[in-house]
Amino acid sequence: MLENKDPQRTSIAQLGEFGLIDHLAKNFGITQESTLTGIGDDAAVIDPGDQKVVVSTDFLIEGVHFDLSYMPLKHLGFKAVSVNVSDICAMNARPTQVTVSIAVSNRFPLEAIEELYAGIALAALAFKVDVVGGDTTSSTTGLIISVTAIGLAKSEEIVYRNGAKENDLIVVTGDIGAAYMGLQVLEREKQVFLVNPNSQPDLDAYTYLIERQLKPEARTDVRTLFHALEIKPTSMIDISDGLSSELLHLCKQSNTGCDLYEDKLPLDPQLISTCEEFNIDATTVAINGGEDYELLFTIPLEDFDKIKGNPNFTVIGHMTQASAGSNLVTRANTKIPLKARGWNALDE
Ligand SMILES: [Mg+2]
Repeated sequence: MLENKDPQRTSIAQLGEFGLIDHLAKNFGITQESTLTGIGDDAAVIDPGDQKVVVSTDFLIEGVHFDLSYMPLKHLGFKAVSVNVSDICAMNARPTQVTVSIAVSNRFPLEAIEELYAGIALAALAFKVDVVGGDTTSSTTGLIISVTAIGLAKSEEIVYRNGAKENDLIVVTGDIGAAYMGLQVLEREKQVFLVNPNSQPDLDAYTYLIERQLKPEARTDVRTLFHALEIKPTSMIDISDGLSSELLHLCKQSNTGCDLYEDKLPLDPQLISTCEEFNIDATTVAINGGEDYELLFTIPLEDFDKIKGNPNFTVIGHMTQASAGSNLVTRANTKIPLKARGWNALDE
């Protein structure tokens, strides 16, 4: 990568808050039919037509959710939008708008904020959402980002967490665990860099894992797949805190138990080789690592033929009676109770 040896640093104070908003808003047009008014008035105006509105919001806080020593600002902007859009996908709704608010300290020049917003604009384009509002304010500590995502769905399309039934199949999209191992690789390189700032990391063997950590893609495509395959999940959630923790949410809210099969977990070969290198158990990473932003859902057993052989989906278990508990069935065919050891921002 070519680095600018003399990067320009324009102070945000020079622009003022309204100047900054005008400057950043230039990047955002309107593409969604449901957006009547975007940035520029006191509030955005959205026309849901005959659909239901689905809303989700999240914070990303420097030092808690991200570390700027290895998270480029452009990636952070992309990720902030992606993780919120993922929650809309988890309701089987179509994401349509986002609002983005940031609190930023004066150690960030305008050029840094532009990078962040370039990532936000890239995500808006990738996930076909309009950025219709937000706020900018100052922070005395670090960078804080809050994104609210809005989506639309017909009432009968919406999938909640509480509809799973005994014998339903448990299905996951994509593969899991890679984002967590990407973070482990980045953490290790950071430690090496702190000891030897001249070290040049060779990250070629970990590109997929790092991309999964730095640039997670919300599965906006899955709703279309469901439609084409004529599937409506009985319950669904996205994997932000880890498979185990999310599956326990589905079980608790649906009042079921589950059997999750260790040998069915979809793992990328790069994840397996990196877990060997780090001497970490790949199953533990797959079920407890978070931030994959894949979708976890249940379907009736009769629908198995509709997803059989589809590379987007892997059946990893089935729902059971609540009294049977929630279990991991190991390769040795023993049952271990599942625990919610997912990543938790409140754990210190
Ligand atoms: Mg979620």
